[in-house]
Amino acid sequence: MSKIVGIDLGTTNSLVAAVDSGIPFVMPDSEGSRLTPSVVHFANAQGHILVGAKANRLRVIKPSETVYAVKRFIGRRGSEIEREEMLVTYPVRGEANAPITIEIHGRAMTPEEVSAEVLKKLKTDAETYLGEPVTRAVITAPAYFNDAQRNATKKAGELAGLTVERIVNEPTAAALAYGLDRLRDKSKIAVYDLGGGTFDLSILELNEGVFQVLATNGNTRLGGEDLDRRIIDFLAEKIRQAGGPDVTGNLSTMARLREAAEQTKIKLSSETEVEVALPFLTPDFNFTCRLRRAELEELTRDIIARTRAHCLRSLADARLELKDLDQVILVGGQTRMPLVRQMVTEIFGCSEFEAATGNIRLGETYHRAEGPMLNTSQNPDEAVALGAAIQAEILAGGFKNLLLLDVTPLSLGIETFGGLMNVIIPRNSTIPIKAGEMFTTAADHQPNMLIHVLQGERERASDNWSLGKFTIDFERAPKGVPRVGVQFEIDANGILHVLARDTKSGKQTIVEMKSAVDVSDADVQRMVEESVEHAFEDLKARQWVEAKMRARDTVLATRKALADFATDMQDDYRAEVEAAVEAVERVLTTEDPNGQTGNVGELKTAHARLDQATKPLADLMMDKAMEAALRRRGAIQ
Ligand code: AMP
Repeated sequence: MSKIVGIDLGTTNSLVAAVDSGIPFVMPDSEGSRLTPSVVHFANAQGHILVGAKANRLRVIKPSETVYAVKRFIGRRGSEIEREEMLVTYPVRGEANAPITIEIHGRAMTPEEVSAEVLKKLKTDAETYLGEPVTRAVITAPAYFNDAQRNATKKAGELAGLTVERIVNEPTAAALAYGLDRLRDKSKIAVYDLGGGTFDLSILELNEGVFQVLATNGNTRLGGEDLDRRIIDFLAEKIRQAGGPDVTGNLSTMARLREAAEQTKIKLSSETEVEVALPFLTPDFNFTCRLRRAELEELTRDIIARTRAHCLRSLADARLELKDLDQVILVGGQTRMPLVRQMVTEIFGCSEFEAATGNIRLGETYHRAEGPMLNTSQNPDEAVALGAAIQAEILAGGFKNLLLLDVTPLSLGIETFGGLMNVIIPRNSTIPIKAGEMFTTAADHQPNMLIHVLQGERERASDNWSLGKFTIDFERAPKGVPRVGVQFEIDANGILHVLARDTKSGKQTIVEMKSAVDVSDADVQRMVEESVEHAFEDLKARQWVEAKMRARDTVLATRKALADFATDMQDDYRAEVEAAVEAVERVLTTEDPNGQTGNVGELKTAHARLDQATKPLADLMMDKAMEAALRRRGAIQ
């Protein structure tokens, strides 16, 4: 029986996930990205199309042939669509009682036909990743979708060659990914979902193991792209003030500005200031400016504040007060922004002290006695897909309902690259529990991976308690290729079983560790106090190690590209890239002797310069790859 995959078919991005050995994980697409833009470009009348990131790059340059946000139209008739919603850059027809159609190169298509192209890509990429045919899927849809919209989503799946086993509500899938089906009965959860183009607030109640949607509210035209537009306007004005060109009329410049705006916004979620560099806007005009997080927050605060009214209305519709809510969970990439988290805590009264600093970290939970808990323990842009995969596994008979018992006193995880602790089961999780993640290698041709199991709340592996170590062997392969699923299971007796499985050979090792709950209260208290006391230096160590690993990867890839394309590059450009590589290497050598701290700011700046310098090199590699592909297909000699 083939695997059932879980698909989050989003307005902006789509994801496909599956469960392996009890571990849900998102699969990368053919470009190596876990998020596939839900964008389809129709290149010509002969049916040549591009889907995903490649199509997204053409959105601004070929606006009338590139379809995005088609989810707004799926299963709807002209009379149901507001005029505003029709304002997309591609031609949409929507006569009152007729289904919506999209007309490109003389061909009229339904939204489900366009969505099917996105689903086909997800299906094919999942097949490549899993190495087996994928024919069955669970697909998610917003809780407010009506029957026609759900049927059209199902139809899109069928057109893509998938049997759609179930259409699941997005907030329900997210709650499953957060493991909230293990909460006590009658728990009430608010799901705050701010994505690229839409905002949804759903209130769920857990009833005999099943989630019921009590109320939904939202805005189908409110999301991350509104923030991007603000930044674009801001940058366009700055460019004008600096004596630069009027960029608003130039499509390719606007495409660059749009990309820069989104990247700046994303970087400002983890950094407090970034440099925006747009070289050669015209042959003799280079633009750079710095943007601080506080400035971005001022520019966009009113947009995020618009979510408040929807949250309150949804609560009123569910006839609930804030104190009735148990948890608020975050979904959608835009909820990574610290200001969004701060506003959510304010709207729902989740946390006071973090709201003051605006520094709410990923993967943590905050609560105060009378308010609901803000749970950020899952990756917000993957939660829906992971939940769909869990639902798929339940349908396939994989997961069984578990009894609620106790909670884990301290977090459990494993040591990863650079000596950091990667938490797999966070502190205070209800047991029994099963959770896991996929890991890969950091070096080429590693024969095995050391699984070092840790318990504690500190960022550095060496500051936590070691519960044990073992290795798992696999076939040697380039770094990043082997996939090892690591699953932690704490049984009803509190015993931790760690399973590591090489997904290629299926070889697995299971080791029984000591009790994961048998820790004295004094030890727990000491560990938690130490983690608070050292929070700042721990965070610095994590930031340095993560920045260092990323920088090392870029240096290695650039050095390889410099060697491979030496003869295709002009001397002065090669010298520029080499200088940028050396600048990164210089910062890396300033690392302190124990290897876990250094100047993160300097490293990120040097890395950003290297990224900027290698853009033409990346284009060159892309051109060469395209040329090779065309040559293979016999399209050119
Ligand atoms: P989704 O629709 O859930 O895929 O969310 C996509 C939106 O999230 C886009 O507008 C992204 O720019 C935004 N986004 C993704 N990551 C971040 C981040 N780290 N900080 C702020 N926004 C982000």
